[in-house]
Amino acid sequence: MLNIILFGAPGTGKGTQSKNIILKYHLVHLSTGDIIREEISKCSPVGLIAKTYIDQGLLVPDSIIIKQLFYRASRFEKPNGFIFDGFPRTLNQAEILDKTLNKKGYPVSMVFYLDVSEEELFKRIMCRSLHSNRADDNEKIIHKRIEVYYKETQPIIKFYEKQNKLITIKGMDSVDIVSGLISEEIDKYIDKNNLLLY
Ligand code: ADP
Repeated sequence: MLNIILFGAPGTGKGTQSKNIILKYHLVHLSTGDIIREEISKCSPVGLIAKTYIDQGLLVPDSIIIKQLFYRASRFEKPNGFIFDGFPRTLNQAEILDKTLNKKGYPVSMVFYLDVSEEELFKRIMCRSLHSNRADDNEKIIHKRIEVYYKETQPIIKFYEKQNKLITIKGMDSVDIVSGLISEEIDKYIDKNNLLLY
């Protein structure tokens, strides 16, 4: 299995790149942001709780996110692999993901860190806010999300660096260039590990 984590601050292009990767390698896309937004749109109990956090630019509690993610993942029988988009976002989430996947015998394969300057992140989310319809894409909340990212999420980089799984990609280039760089790395990994994807 090919299990890929797309990692980076809000606005780095994780969602856009995920779409390109799933098309090319037929992976299952698991975006915790999308999962939570779906729950909010259904007004489910989980969605209602999550909304109180998202609206403040805070992370949704690990217990909620982890349960939702593993429930969705369990619906797929023998996929080529998963692409985790927006997960993990805390060290605790990273440790639980590792433990769970290692136990199943298909660990995290590679982690792409999309590196984009803070100034550019802010510009991109402000631009996205013009058409995204996302309540959390507004100036005050964006600042909070970026602050939370640096405090709670960025420490995960070291966790994957230590495992030699982190690949840093300069996310400032165009979508196509970034896609090309990611694909090159995935192709190398597939070749090296003789993976057979359908
Ligand atoms: P972005 O990467 O632009 O912040 P996402 O769609 O990934 O957008 O996430 C939107 C919001 O959903 C986050 O600000 C957070 O409140 C919540 N969220 C998404 N993934 C997680 C996660 N793994 N842990 C906690 N909260 C999450």
